[in-house]
Amino acid sequence: MQIENFIDGKFTPPIDGNYLPNLNPANGELNSMIPDSSHDDVNSAVNAAKSAFSNWSKLTINERIDWLRQIADGLEQRKADIARLECEDTGKPISLAERVDAERSITNFSFFADHAKSIADLEFRMDDATNYVIRKPVGVVGLITPWNLPLYLLSWKIAPALVMGNTIIAKPSELTPSTANLLCEVLDSIDFPKGVINIVQGLGSTVGQAIVEHPEIRAISFTGGTETGKIVARTAAPMFKKLSLELGGKNATIILDDVDLASAAKGAARAAFTNSGQVCLCGSRILVADKIYHEFVDLLVEEVEAMKVGNPKHRDTDIGSVISIAHKDKIHSYIDLAKSEGGEILTGSEFTIPPPNANGAFVAPTLIANLNIDSRCAVEEIFGPVATIHRFTTDEEAIRMANITQYGLAGSIWTGDRARGVAVANQIDSGILWVNTWLHRDLRTPFGGVKNSGVGREGGDWSLNFFSELCNICVKDD
Ligand code: NAD
Repeated sequence: MQIENFIDGKFTPPIDGNYLPNLNPANGELNSMIPDSSHDDVNSAVNAAKSAFSNWSKLTINERIDWLRQIADGLEQRKADIARLECEDTGKPISLAERVDAERSITNFSFFADHAKSIADLEFRMDDATNYVIRKPVGVVGLITPWNLPLYLLSWKIAPALVMGNTIIAKPSELTPSTANLLCEVLDSIDFPKGVINIVQGLGSTVGQAIVEHPEIRAISFTGGTETGKIVARTAAPMFKKLSLELGGKNATIILDDVDLASAAKGAARAAFTNSGQVCLCGSRILVADKIYHEFVDLLVEEVEAMKVGNPKHRDTDIGSVISIAHKDKIHSYIDLAKSEGGEILTGSEFTIPPPNANGAFVAPTLIANLNIDSRCAVEEIFGPVATIHRFTTDEEAIRMANITQYGLAGSIWTGDRARGVAVANQIDSGILWVNTWLHRDLRTPFGGVKNSGVGREGGDWSLNFFSELCNICVKDD
């Protein structure tokens, strides 16, 4: 299959005629060829988005909400295809792709349709005047997303950008192009206005860079790694673009000594290994109170060893492949480093997967003990199924250990005492914390990180604000 760009409502081959292979990491098979687009394709998409802006931005918010609902309905009809394509592009288990990726990609459109209905008019009365705060669209916006949750993260940006009246140039990861293309098929099938959403496929260094540096793209919403975020910020900041950066994480899971051990072990295993640890929110450093350390670790190892690793198409698979052979090699290099630094591998030995997945990018869920809390495996984002385990004696020590990384995205605290959990959560330098749960999301809440995990917040009003220019009109009384 050959995927094309989607520009001005048409499936359009890349101007230079170059294509890249898109491989299934679970078996090495070719999924599709995708455009290896250039600056020229981005320019042509920006021209289409600029022309579409005047009509789209003039629609009423209710008319735009209606379009969001039509997209959600169109995606709902393709739900099984979304899950299958995410499974084939990423190697994640089909059951996870159905439950998380397909479900949330649709919900993002219906959520922002509902949420936009609730935007309140802001007015500030003075003794002798009234201030009216109005929202205008920003203009043409650039959306750049990673491979771990492809349509889930792309739709999380597209829906609020659309509803606020912007037109869009979006670039999915070159490793996971298929569901963005499916979205274009849905747009085509519902006669969505041309040029409002343009998808340019290709590499980050060419297409991504061209989007970030294009002078007529007025806002950039980027989700990806911290190092790429630095490049994006360096390019966009001097152009005074609005910028939202959702970056990497190295999140702590803190197990306090008063916890229900069995449920904490289940929670910690899920937090560490969902999507093979390839979720920015994964808890890849597990801090355990000394008093319960051995009992907890035994239960955790049992949970992890019960996870079935294998063919992502099988319904009973818990852990599929990682995103690529190169990523598998990177993850293994961290495991080797851990061993060389005296780390004890509690579970996660080498294993073989039968055909047709024998050459897939599989890594067993791996737990490593006995590393220093500031060792590279404990502080760098591995973004794979690897978690390190560390002991602490007091809550203060756990907080200090949680806070020593450059990141500040998320974390979870597991305890029998909610007030104690909240007190610990309050002292962790992260944007998102859970007590006795993980990845439990209310889409109205702010989402984003502190320190090197990002700048800005997404979710609910925060997304709507990012994709608007708030302007104040002060009217003096007669
Ligand atoms: P990445 O930074 O390599 O790529 C992300 C996107 O940026 C891709 O589309 C890529 O093509 C593009 N890109 C690459 N170079 C670019 C450039 N110079 N200019 C513009 N765009 C460019 O990240 P990845 O490997 O795809 O994803 C994994 C990372 O994403 C992890 O660090 C993970 O923590 C992070 N992530 C963060 C969140 C969050 O919400 N904070 C969510 C998911 C993933």
